[in-house]
Amino acid sequence: MKKTFILHLECSLTGKRYEAGCVHGLSEAGRPLLVRYDLDALAAAISKEELAQRTEGFWRYREFLPVARAKDRVSLGEVVTPLIRTPRIEQRLDSGEIFVKDEGRLPTGSFKARGLALAVAMAKEFGLTHLAMPTNGNSGAALAAYASRAGMRSTIFCPDDTPPVNVEEIALQGGDIYRVNGLINDCGKIVGEGKEKVGWFDVSTLKEPYRIEGKKTMGLELAEQFGWELPDVIFYPTGGGTGLIGMWKAFDELQKIGWIGSRRPRMVAVQATGCAPIVRAWEKGEEHAPLWENAATLAAGIRVPIAVGDFLIIRAVRESGGFAIAVDDDDIIDAQAEMAREEGLLLCPEGAATYAAYRQSLADGRVSRKDRVILFNCATGLKYPMPKTEKFIDRTKPVDWEQFA
Ligand SMILES: *Cc1c(COP(=O)(O)O)cnc(C)c1O
Repeated sequence: MKKTFILHLECSLTGKRYEAGCVHGLSEAGRPLLVRYDLDALAAAISKEELAQRTEGFWRYREFLPVARAKDRVSLGEVVTPLIRTPRIEQRLDSGEIFVKDEGRLPTGSFKARGLALAVAMAKEFGLTHLAMPTNGNSGAALAAYASRAGMRSTIFCPDDTPPVNVEEIALQGGDIYRVNGLINDCGKIVGEGKEKVGWFDVSTLKEPYRIEGKKTMGLELAEQFGWELPDVIFYPTGGGTGLIGMWKAFDELQKIGWIGSRRPRMVAVQATGCAPIVRAWEKGEEHAPLWENAATLAAGIRVPIAVGDFLIIRAVRESGGFAIAVDDDDIIDAQAEMAREEGLLLCPEGAATYAAYRQSLADGRVSRKDRVILFNCATGLKYPMPKTEKFIDRTKPVDWEQFA
């Protein structure tokens, strides 16, 4: 019996095929490689009913994934992340149904666990022992954790203003972490140069083929959670775009095996106004998004000035009838506070950006009150600096009870 359903890998730009079963980075054209499966054989091997019996997080979709041997499926107890309705907000906005997909519940507190679990599992399958990556925080944490779990080394570079908790969690989970006085693309250059000089394997976003397969499970999970009827609109906080591209790939594979129809959600790429290369390119009608100078936003996870998968993000947005939208940091802060206060959901800033983008799109008519929407909360809000609070009780003095009234 076949252990995986992979046929080959394919350059996402030129379509050129590459053999599966050996180590790959980017294609010769310098673009991401996509995994292609024998979907007929896959469809014959698993049914929706069988799938429904399985419990274990995203590894439940193993037929759709590239890992051949069960022992390489490195795991830290992944869960199917919940979809949480927001009734008070819906009432306030007089909006359609909103579901927050809370990815903060995954190991290491972000959806980066999905991609890195897959990248590390494949690295293990290929016998690689030393992985390296640039990060804005969460991907480094996931790499450090899964690499340690698999008994591998990880070397990680982050911008020097990365949230301290990320730097510290990476170190504590066994990652060799260095701060760099630059942005994520500057860190990426160091990783690239080190491939020759040190011999580590580069697991940067979309520079190896398997993180996207991990992120694809978000699309599989959403489809399954909605009873194989996709929602109307997905707001996705877009940095390198792995998740958006991955979900789009998942929907395509699900349609080809006959599990869903041709209806697709409109995909919305959300960025911050201080770093919005994809939004700029999309608005100009272009497929490639040049470097965004002086990128700045408090939403560290989407501070990605240049993306190798730019054209894949933009094509998915366009084909889906979606759009790209940028939101201000002030709006992100306000959206985060509103969701926390009204619904008790502590979104990360990038997750809050999707809510800010939704409010804006509802107001300007780009989404309607009939639309059922997904907001991606990509990480737990607990990892980020929060507003200070000052209230204090001196227990040696009489309490002023008025203040609680
Ligand atoms: C990585 C990250 C993103 C961006 O995800 P991509 O799929 O790479 O675009 C958004 N938010 C957070 C919190 C992240 O860690």
